[in-house]
Amino acid sequence: MQTPTTLREIKELKEKLARIIGDMLTSEEKEEALRDHHARRPPRPCGMTIHTGIGCTLRCTYCYIEDMGFPWSAKPYPLNGRQLVYALLKNPSFIPGRNGTLIAIGSVTEPFLPETKEKTIEYIENIAEYLGNPIQFSTKMPLTRSDAERIARADPGISPLITIITVEHHRNLEPYAPPPELRFKTIAVLAEKRLKPILFYRPIIPGIAEKEYQYILEEAKRHGAIGVVAGTLRVTPRIIEKLKENDIPIEEIIKRLPRKPKPREQVPVYTRDIKEKILSYARKIGLIAFPEACMANLYTHGYTCWKMINLGVTSKNMPPEKNLERIREDLVLNGFKVLSAKWENNYRVRLTLSQRHRRYKSLIEEYIRCKYKLCIKTFYK
Ligand code: SF4
Repeated sequence: MQTPTTLREIKELKEKLARIIGDMLTSEEKEEALRDHHARRPPRPCGMTIHTGIGCTLRCTYCYIEDMGFPWSAKPYPLNGRQLVYALLKNPSFIPGRNGTLIAIGSVTEPFLPETKEKTIEYIENIAEYLGNPIQFSTKMPLTRSDAERIARADPGISPLITIITVEHHRNLEPYAPPPELRFKTIAVLAEKRLKPILFYRPIIPGIAEKEYQYILEEAKRHGAIGVVAGTLRVTPRIIEKLKENDIPIEEIIKRLPRKPKPREQVPVYTRDIKEKILSYARKIGLIAFPEACMANLYTHGYTCWKMINLGVTSKNMPPEKNLERIREDLVLNGFKVLSAKWENNYRVRLTLSQRHRRYKSLIEEYIRCKYKLCIKTFYK
């Protein structure tokens, strides 16, 4: 489904779709969907994270979900597929369609656990059927040929991220997750079904990643990965303790921490230098290097953003022309007063709008991000 080009048309389309989906739901189902956080939470710059389960049984040592209040057990998310779509359509900042909000599955649970897998596929199928937004998932679980076929039938451009961050230390870092060999095999299965699997090198664990990344990238490539997304480790005091308990060398992590985290606070560990090494080695061996997961989602769906162009990565469709005046006029036509517009760099625009539009902040940002494929920051005064 094409994304309309004005905010008014987007609103009309959302209302029309919500009526159609709403007619398929009972009033209790609609109410439950409306109470759900998917109907309210603003998308993040990387897209809208979709929860397909509550909790996770894999208990990765570096995982922060316990600090966020999630349990180490898993159950499928309570909404059914149509309720989830309904909730998204009722979310004021969500933009439906192929050029709409990016969908990211797998942030606070493993989406292909026995407990969550059917729900995940149901969500993928429903989002693809009724909305058409670009979907991405990340997983450590093995996927079968028939899983891959079902997923590819729903969204042939889907962006699969397969997490492998260590081979040597996986028993200590991911004690209950399937071994990396099975995940390399999943890459091969997805590639065989003409999907575009991407290695997910996140979190980068300083002290371990430096010794292993070359092997992991080479193996991923050999099994059919087209690229790599690399990302940072975030730690809480509990995670640091857990890493110590599991015999993970933490000196390098501590050295790179900008400050001591407060209880439950997630603090990113400095890994930019290691990330650069990973991405540069990826390029050297013919993998596409994605510094952010959203770029991988755009890429596999045939889209290109201006940050990708800046990095020399392009997919089938190029973004609209980069023109500040056009963006300003577009927002004015949509009823917003733009006080100033300027480039922060080659791919990020900085807009200042009238204070009275502040409550539309996430919608405005999402609209510009989706339509012009630009990063954006907005300010209000
Ligand atoms: S699989 Fe993901 S959500 Fe589950 S414990 Fe590991 S990092 Fe956390």
